[in-house]
Amino acid sequence: MDADLLRTLGIDPAALEPAPPWAPYRGTSTARLDGGHRCARCGQPARATRVVDAPGLGRRWLDTCRDDFLAVARLRPSRMPSTVEGIVADLRAAAVEVGAPLTVVVDEP
Ligand SMILES: [Zn+2]
Repeated sequence: MDADLLRTLGIDPAALEPAPPWAPYRGTSTARLDGGHRCARCGQPARATRVVDAPGLGRRWLDTCRDDFLAVARLRPSRMPSTVEGIVADLRAAAVEVGAPLTVVVDEP
């Protein structure tokens, strides 16, 4: 999915800096936005950053300006379920994972 995102944006994953193997906490990401990093797409000063998984290269920093941050957000599909059935399925899967019984009652208006 991240490979498609990078290809659509015309970003060469090999040009992105390697990211740490752990999930960066907010402070790590904020520290990257010190003015020393440029948008991977247009070269403007970076205003946002995220970690992407580049096939064959591993985790990489994707630094973006505001406009390209918004472009990435528009291209990345939401991982949240958008239907009641999808939400209930997620709840059931979470309940099974933790071994908790789950009863779902959906009231129709
Ligand atoms: Zn940009």
